[in-house]
Amino acid sequence: MQTKAPAIGFIGLGVMGAPMCGNVVRKHPAPVHAFDLNLAAVRDVAAQGARAAHSIAEVTATSDIVFLSLPGGRQVSEVCLGKEGIAGTGKRGLIVVDLSTTGVAEARAVGAGLAAAGMEFSDAPVARTRAAAAAGTLSIMVGASPVLFARIEPLLRYMASDVTHCGALGCGQVVKLINNTLVFEHVVALAELMVVGARAGVAPEILLQAVAKGSGDSFVLRNHGMKAMLPRRFPERSFPPEYVLKDLGYTIELAQSCGVEPRLPAVAQSYYQAAVAKGLGGRYFPAIIELIEEG
Ligand code: NAD
Repeated sequence: MQTKAPAIGFIGLGVMGAPMCGNVVRKHPAPVHAFDLNLAAVRDVAAQGARAAHSIAEVTATSDIVFLSLPGGRQVSEVCLGKEGIAGTGKRGLIVVDLSTTGVAEARAVGAGLAAAGMEFSDAPVARTRAAAAAGTLSIMVGASPVLFARIEPLLRYMASDVTHCGALGCGQVVKLINNTLVFEHVVALAELMVVGARAGVAPEILLQAVAKGSGDSFVLRNHGMKAMLPRRFPERSFPPEYVLKDLGYTIELAQSCGVEPRLPAVAQSYYQAAVAKGLGGRYFPAIIELIEEG
């Protein structure tokens, strides 16, 4: 017997959510109901075939599985557990899959709140860029029970080329926060030494090409270094220092809850705080090199 494809809801249609929703609309054989506080964002995905919803209640009334792609934990808690949120408007058995990056304790608290309403929850934060979201080639790190993971994995593959089951609820966020924190620290380290290299007389492109042939090579050097810091290309609507600070805050909280004093994340945090204070907010975060150049 063939089982009917679940109706899908999608809440949060920003830089990442809109292209992810677009992939689900194109690949899923049942309706996708989309909602965002930003009406223009809803109109854009409706033009790609999504059904426009005007409230969370409209999404939960029509969907079996709801994806979220929201700024952070505060918005996820509000949408799931707040007044007129998912827990209060959805039916028992509803599945909520959060693609946002949030704190680990927050994710577990939201999971507990939804479980009390008879719903299931998975944290499934995404890595890679807006271009990867459009191409359906994200990497998704999932926290869920094995049974729930088996149920949602085929849907996550609409959006991702890599889907990793990291463990129980919250473990997707643990892996995502560690990944992001390593990148944010590394970008600061590279930016500082690119400024040193240039001032010491080495052309920046020669520096990066030569280090890439040695053991100082890295993903950050080849991507954030060569593609953004070298040409000073820091567009808006990509990943701003404000989101870096959000994620570093979550990592610091997580490390402290595990009895580890997170010194390097705190140093990186001070750089990105200064970047926002100096007017680099909203731009792609490797713009931190401009802060270092200005001293
Ligand atoms: P964004 O700010 O572009 O989009 C967030 C969307 O959520 C906006 O359209 C906003 O209107 C909507 N929203 C906020 N509160 C809402 C509410 N209460 N109800 C309905 N809609 C609401 O953010 P983004 O860059 O798409 O990032 C989304 C998540 O993905 C974040 O957690 C971020 O850390 C993570 N992420 C971003 C990137 C990136 O490159 N931008 C990469 C990987 C992961």
